[in-house]
Amino acid sequence: MQTAQDKAPDAIRIKEQFVEFLREKKYRNTQERYLVLDGVLECEEHFSADELYLALRTKNVQVSRATVYSTLDLLTRCNILVKHRFQGDSARFELADKMPNHDHLICTECGYIVEFQEETLNEIQDRVATQNGFKPLKHSLQIFAVCQDSRNCEHNRS
Ligand SMILES: [Zn+2]
Ligand SMILES: [Zn+2]
Repeated sequence: MQTAQDKAPDAIRIKEQFVEFLREKKYRNTQERYLVLDGVLECEEHFSADELYLALRTKNVQVSRATVYSTLDLLTRCNILVKHRFQGDSARFELADKMPNHDHLICTECGYIVEFQEETLNEIQDRVATQNGFKPLKHSLQIFAVCQDSRNCEHNRS
């Protein structure tokens, strides 16, 4: 568990990274974008754009749905967020540096997500890339499964 204090320096660094990206790419530096970023920093992992939009609305933050979508896109392009497309689901986002190079196990019934790191997968990534003349960077694996104990199969998504 991270406490709010652990997260504080991260939030500052992430904001600086975003400011720098907007400046470099000559995007407009609007207040709304930072309101969206603040919302992102308070989000549970693996949130969708609509979940974020509703969370902001609930807090009376005045941003449009379109701004939420476009800002999430920018945050993904500057590598602050990673975008996942889990099976049959709308895109979900998470902070890129929360847990590097992890993979996901997803219940197809209830949408519950478990994150894991498995060294063997990194070895496979490196070996397959190298054998084919690539320089390995990262990978993304999604394992689709169902909760073994059906009584637990209700972990909801929010
Ligand atoms: Zn994750
Ligand atoms: Zn389940």
